Amino acid sequence: RKLVGKLSTGCTEFDEMMGGGIDTQAITELYGEFGSGKTQVAHQLAVNVQLPKEQGGLSGSVIIIDTENTFRPERIKQMVEGLSERYGQEYDPEEFLKHIHVARAYNSNHQILLVDSAMELANELKDSDMPVRLFIVDSLTAHFRAEYIGRGTLADRQQKLNKHLHGLQKCGDLYNASVVVTNQVMSKPDAFFGDPTKPIGGHIVGHTATFRLYLRKSKGDKRIVKLVDSPNLPDGEAIISVTTPGLRD
Ligand code: ADP
Ligand code: MG
Repeated sequence: RKLVGKLSTGCTEFDEMMGGGIDTQAITELYGEFGSGKTQVAHQLAVNVQLPKEQGGLSGSVIIIDTENTFRPERIKQMVEGLSERYGQEYDPEEFLKHIHVARAYNSNHQILLVDSAMELANELKDSDMPVRLFIVDSLTAHFRAEYIGRGTLADRQQKLNKHLHGLQKCGDLYNASVVVTNQVMSKPDAFFGDPTKPIGGHIVGHTATFRLYLRKSKGDKRIVKLVDSPNLPDGEAIISVTTPGLRD
């Protein structure tokens, strides 16, 4: 078994709450309402993972399964410029974009299939200078929510999601990579979708390690990140800011 790596969020409190950063060989779920910052955190991690260990990274590349078409290369550029500002050295946004492999998922079955493609790519890059160290699925649940409607389909949806998560966990284990997934929740109950105020998917079956992070809006660019029911860390809250150059304390 490989030593667990830690991927820095770039935010002191957030990292500390996570025991140093986002674990490799584990799935970390970001859940929260629309606009709470899930996709922003995902973009920042896609940048940070490429940094060397001294700067909180894992010297690796990232695969993003983008299900809502919310990946923005322009946003990556801003965040890389933010790194230059932070570390007082020049970083090339194009270099960072080269190591972000994005695949669009058109429906839930396609999304599941893309995990196999992700694994193939990770295998190809295994011995390169930028092995895959981060897998992102943003959003994990949007297609599932849209396609599985009504009570009768919930068990089926759960089974598919569990299988999907097991595939992702395998990616994390095989490549000593972090796995980050997002899950939107709604502020008000909506009978049509079942139980939309709670993140769907529940706890991953079996032994799988999971970190659940609940994001919510605070004043201005501030967001509160809450660690919920961690298997090995105390529950806690961290405040972060989502700014143009990226996530900050
Ligand atoms: P979610 O994925 O949880 O629905 P997002 O991660 O897309 O939410 O967060 C969107 C929010 O992030 C925006 O409302 C804004 O506050 C902030 N944001 C997005 N882009 C920028 C930017 N370029 N500069 C500063 N803040 C930004
Ligand atoms: Mg989003």
